[in-house]
Amino acid sequence: MRTEISAKNLYSDFVRKVEQISEQTLLSCYQCGKCSAGCPMCFAMDLLPNQIIRLAQLGQEDDIAKANTIWICASCITCSVRCPRGVDLARVMEALRLITSRKNIDHVQIPDIPKETIAELPQLAMVGGFRKLTA
Ligand code: SF4
Repeated sequence: MRTEISAKNLYSDFVRKVEQISEQTLLSCYQCGKCSAGCPMCFAMDLLPNQIIRLAQLGQEDDIAKANTIWICASCITCSVRCPRGVDLARVMEALRLITSRKNIDHVQIPDIPKETIAELPQLAMVGGFRKLTA
């Protein structure tokens, strides 16, 4: 991953939108890693939660979109509770999902789910999952 650091990215519309939707100040994060250390889902993430917030601070929208982290996040709020800086990272993750979904990018292709899987899954879980994972 090659990260382009520039004033243009630091003060981009993307950074402004993430802060506006999440109502969080991204630069409050000083990368202590407590959010990632407590995350129960980080074993399945290709980038850790603190790495995602660093990319968000730097306006690296494309790198965030390529990672599976925002979709694996279970919104359990462990990160938000552990943060010594009071950053509600769960809200940042939700803002990132919203921004991605507004581009009509679906993380799950419903027709690709095998019929047997659909038959086995609880309907409520599926509806909740589709709301989170599709535009
Ligand atoms: Fe940043 Fe808070 Fe995570 Fe520490 S716990 S890395 S300050 S978001």
